[in-house]
Amino acid sequence: MSMEMDESQGAPRRGPRGGAQGGADKKGGSSVRKRGFTRRKVCRFCADKTLVIDYKDPQLLKYFVTDRGKIVPRRISGNCAKHQRKVALAVRRSRMIALLPYTVTGA
Ligand SMILES: [Zn+2]
Repeated sequence: MSMEMDESQGAPRRGPRGGAQGGADKKGGSSVRKRGFTRRKVCRFCADKTLVIDYKDPQLLKYFVTDRGKIVPRRISGNCAKHQRKVALAVRRSRMIALLPYTVTGA
């Protein structure tokens, strides 16, 4: 058995520097923490006193529910603990009366 590779040079050459290797080295170690979310200092319910968390208001609650039907965590929604609890409660109530989905499957 003999492994002989017959490389015929039929391929056209791409200029003098055609064989440059694609830069596959990634520079790691960069600690970028921004994820596109704007950081809110206070929760919107604290900031806006007129805003009422109502379980009958899916338009508002939808803001705190992912498109898969999960409640958005506090770090992302930016709510304070007090209002996050209220939102979570409202979402749960809203689910009971079918204003919000429990889960979103399919798609
Ligand atoms: Zn608040």
